[in-house]
Amino acid sequence: MADTFLSGRTALVTGSTSGIGLAIARALAAAGAKVAINGLGTPDQVANAIAEVDAAGSGGTRHFGADLRDPDAIAAMMDELAAWSGGGIDILVNNAGIQHAVPLHEMPVQKWNDILAINLSSAFHTMRAAMPAMAARGYGRVVNIASVHGLVASKDKAPYVASKFGIVGLSKVAALEYAAQGSRDSGGITVNCICPGWVETPLIEPQVEARMAGGSRDDGVRALLAEKQPSLRMTLPDEIAALAVFLCRREAHNITGTAMPVDGGWTAQ
Ligand code: NAD
Repeated sequence: MADTFLSGRTALVTGSTSGIGLAIARALAAAGAKVAINGLGTPDQVANAIAEVDAAGSGGTRHFGADLRDPDAIAAMMDELAAWSGGGIDILVNNAGIQHAVPLHEMPVQKWNDILAINLSSAFHTMRAAMPAMAARGYGRVVNIASVHGLVASKDKAPYVASKFGIVGLSKVAALEYAAQGSRDSGGITVNCICPGWVETPLIEPQVEARMAGGSRDDGVRALLAEKQPSLRMTLPDEIAALAVFLCRREAHNITGTAMPVDGGWTAQ
């Protein structure tokens, strides 16, 4: 029988119309949570994402279309979520992210602004709104999807690396501020980052294509892995989701302020 230990809990997963976010939304729903999804996409993509998350759990999934570049849209979403969840969400997964890989001097200013807004500032806005209600209840989980690029740098990714180092720092501050809230029995308030290496999602496609050199997609994937990820295996979105669900367990009450690599040894080198 499925372990629905999150029954009665509510969650928001940003950027969950695709990739890692959609996998996390499905996994939280399967563990019993009522899940709000967010993210861009065609009406069909959004409808499919809602249907997938509904099918994974008990239904009631709702999509919030806020563009995370817009702080006012985030504030409106968080107000609506407080009503939808009956007083504030229990689990916040800041996952939405974009990438643009070119050398620093070629990086368009608009890309810098968008990447910092989506990958970093949106997490500040959602955490600021959601965490006081978590503290009042004695249980809350913030899982921020950072990256190995929150721990080490690569060239051609100035705004991405800056945003991911930023979200690791932001998470550590919030972890300290909320560490003493709640109890072992209530589960406490924890804030952690998951730091994936290469994960099979649409986000990495341009980087795979750039390495195909006239060959197949598999050739591009092999070249990408060979550069950085010693396991030479991609991570699957469901594998990141399994870790996010574990962090939501009561038993994980003392895991806070961490930045956990899931990177096949990338950052061990
Ligand atoms: P993806 O492209 O499959 O999904 C990104 C999601 O973010 C989508 O739902 C998209 O609609 C949403 N999004 C983009 N711009 C938005 C905006 N302005 N407002 C609201 N939502 C927006 O990518 P993914 O690989 O699943 O990435 C998810 C997270 O994982 C990102 O933060 C990414 O940096 C991180 N990550 C991915 C990898 C990887 O190899 N795929 C590695 C490390 C970290």
